[in-house]
Amino acid sequence: MKYISTRGTAPVLSFEDAMLSGLARDGGLYVPETIPALSVDQIAAMEGQSYEDIAFTVMRPFVGETFSDQEFKDIIARAYSGFGHDARAPLVQLDQGHFLLELFHGPTLAFKDFAMQLIGQLFQTALSRRGERVTIVGATSGDTGSAAIEAFRGLDNVDVFIMYPHGRISEVQRRQMTTPQESNVHALAMDGDFDDCQARLKDMFNDFEFRDGVRLAGVNSINWARVLAQVVYYFSSAVSLGAPHRNVSFTVPTGNFGDIFAGYIAKQMGLPIEKLVVATNQNDILHRCLSGQGYHKGDTVPSISPSMDIQVSSNFERALFDAYGRDGHAVAQLMDELKAGGFEVSQGAMQVLQEHYSSGRASEEDTSATIKKALAQTGELLCPHSAIGVKVAQEHRVAGTPMITLATAHPAKFPTAVDAASGVHPPLPPRMDDLYDRSERVTRVPNDLAALMDHIRENIRS
Ligand SMILES: *Cc1c(COP(=O)(O)O)cnc(C)c1O
Repeated sequence: MKYISTRGTAPVLSFEDAMLSGLARDGGLYVPETIPALSVDQIAAMEGQSYEDIAFTVMRPFVGETFSDQEFKDIIARAYSGFGHDARAPLVQLDQGHFLLELFHGPTLAFKDFAMQLIGQLFQTALSRRGERVTIVGATSGDTGSAAIEAFRGLDNVDVFIMYPHGRISEVQRRQMTTPQESNVHALAMDGDFDDCQARLKDMFNDFEFRDGVRLAGVNSINWARVLAQVVYYFSSAVSLGAPHRNVSFTVPTGNFGDIFAGYIAKQMGLPIEKLVVATNQNDILHRCLSGQGYHKGDTVPSISPSMDIQVSSNFERALFDAYGRDGHAVAQLMDELKAGGFEVSQGAMQVLQEHYSSGRASEEDTSATIKKALAQTGELLCPHSAIGVKVAQEHRVAGTPMITLATAHPAKFPTAVDAASGVHPPLPPRMDDLYDRSERVTRVPNDLAALMDHIRENIRS
């Protein structure tokens, strides 16, 4: 299996190299050259299997020669052993034909753990075999960073630096990043918003001297291995509702477009998905774009669903690549226009996008009202991101096709917003209830590329 860049000019890489490098050297994102299909029988055989067995079937064709079957099985087993639910991704019913896929039973209580725990094991296995070390730098709107730190803390061949927007993430998110005491963990509070963090990260990857000097590796959702890990729960949940013999639809609270793009990959592999619904908060660039209004940056407005406060949705580039017939040159041009503020999507590409994706948005009031209503009607306490999904899903349901809404975080990760909406203060699960007592370690950094690169060079362990 070979991986190519969405901008067409970076070297073609193996799974292992695409995973370890993250962003392609032409500024693009790696995608598989072809998407392997699973047969109806292979999908049907997943019924009743463990999450780990389904994960092996779904991901194995993408990994190629990088790991042996047994090595890959062991990696999967270790990745999900720390989850607080034996089903890993349990499905609960909200209403007739409407189901909630709970993706928040991992160690940091958000769906990012599904990918990051796997990536930690993949990196460790590959790097120790090569006798190499890397510096992981990540940008986070809250959940990616905590999941990355949890996955890489204490690993010998990795230093991990995470930039988050100072003052714009929840206290639980912050504490999950600042309380680990391992010396390879570095939390950086940046003066700026998430788009600034993400832009500085891209700048570092495009500075080849720095990139090669510190052996920079990326684990943001641009990393193909992360998207791949997320394809699995589309299969496990759809099969439990009757796929491949029955169609299903999904609604996905969306920010960087990684999670929903994984659903699109599942569909390409043969899972009968009828609709993939993008749900956004008031930062609705994706909803506007999918409604035919072009892709134009606005200012990011902070919301009660901070993990979706994004204007430049990095994985959307992968969707555009397919929509433009895999023309890397066309994508590179759009991305140049985006630097200057935005671009229009061609009519042909728009048609392809709308064939696969629908979209909706939820205001702050909609989000709070949905948290309150879902609690009253189902007893389910939703986090604000999941509530956005539930609200938009209700608007897109079609009789006869089950709708699965992805619950992306545990309500206890956003207690202030959940309490204000519902009057119920969601407690942390017992396994992490001392989080508020642990001491914090963090460095305040400016939104300045040179200063950031200096800080990282000086703090890498050798
Ligand atoms: C990251 C995140 C999202 C958005 O996921 P994308 O893959 O960036 O679209 C939604 N909800 C929560 C809780 C998240 O952490």
